[in-house]
Amino acid sequence: MFLREKIPDGSKYLYDRSTLKGHAKNVILPNDETELREGIRYSSKGNTKVTISGTRMGAFGGAVPTGGDIMSMERMYGVIGAGKDENGVYLRVLPNTTVSLFNNAIASGKVLGVDGADVPDIFGMQFPVKADVSQSIGGCVATNRSGIREYVRRIKVVFSDSTFTTITRGEYIADGRRMGFPAGRNYFCFDLPDYDSDDSFGPKFSENMDLIDLFIGSEGIFCIITEADIYLSSDVKESEVIECGKTTNGMIKERYGQEAEDAVKRIKSILDTNYILNIGNLL
Ligand SMILES: Cc1cc2nc3c(=O)[nH]c(=O)nc-3n(C[C@H](O)[C@H](O)[C@H](O)COP(=O)(O)OP(=O)(O)OC[C@H]3O[C@@H](n4cnc5c(N)ncnc54)[C@H](O)[C@@H]3O)c2cc1C
Repeated sequence: MFLREKIPDGSKYLYDRSTLKGHAKNVILPNDETELREGIRYSSKGNTKVTISGTRMGAFGGAVPTGGDIMSMERMYGVIGAGKDENGVYLRVLPNTTVSLFNNAIASGKVLGVDGADVPDIFGMQFPVKADVSQSIGGCVATNRSGIREYVRRIKVVFSDSTFTTITRGEYIADGRRMGFPAGRNYFCFDLPDYDSDDSFGPKFSENMDLIDLFIGSEGIFCIITEADIYLSSDVKESEVIECGKTTNGMIKERYGQEAEDAVKRIKSILDTNYILNIGNLL
């Protein structure tokens, strides 16, 4: 059974590091993915809007609620394990694992192997992009913080109808501009917009794109990230990436036109059937 609490006035959940102040009735505090799925199913049935809240370090209002409830990821943190594939070593983490917890786990030398595999050598490795130590990995992936995209190996996501799926890079590739993939009892299939987006903000679109890239940087408008595999690096990459969020949510229309915004909304209405997830980020 998930916990859903009333939010008092002035609650921390109503702010991030932007100047915006939001409003919301309740906060849902899942301890694990099962509770998160129960919570989102409950919200969907009541047609209640949900704003996903990480560590609220965003500066563009992405986590600031515009009514409805908040899905706080704050209890879903921790390192699941380390793994290795042909591209390198990675850490699998829960969404609200902070960058400091991520790096401390590596330094501790106490990380287990994922899926029963041997623990790879991760000594001297670290979180691969520049980030504040208190930011969550889920938030970094949702905003494509500092171009983390290329380091994201796999994500697990929950949709607003409570179905979930895991997506490994290379697993689902669009056929031209036609994307299709299974998720629980669903098979999602849709056309990608006609335009190619650059990597600076909002969802990524291009011909023959990888499904994982649709969700990285999409600011929680399609689904909730509940696990991420992040490749480790021996040095930290610096790069500037603009977030979209609420204070800048006209950017898709401004840069690519009204048709582009309509196309994003069309895809959202397929993946988020009740249109409840982070809708303030795509007004
Ligand atoms: C002073 C400052 C400077 C910054 N500079 C940069 C910069 O130079 N480059 C850069 O790229 N970013 C920058 N940011 C943005 C910041 O790095 C990201 O917003 C942050 O990493 C997100 O982590 P968070 O947990 O705080 O997310 P939050 O602020 O809680 O959320 C950010 C967005 O992600 C969504 N979200 C959070 N968790 C999940 C999840 N598990 N699943 C789906 N959606 C989720 C939220 O709904 C929200 O839309 C800056 C932020 C601050 C405050």
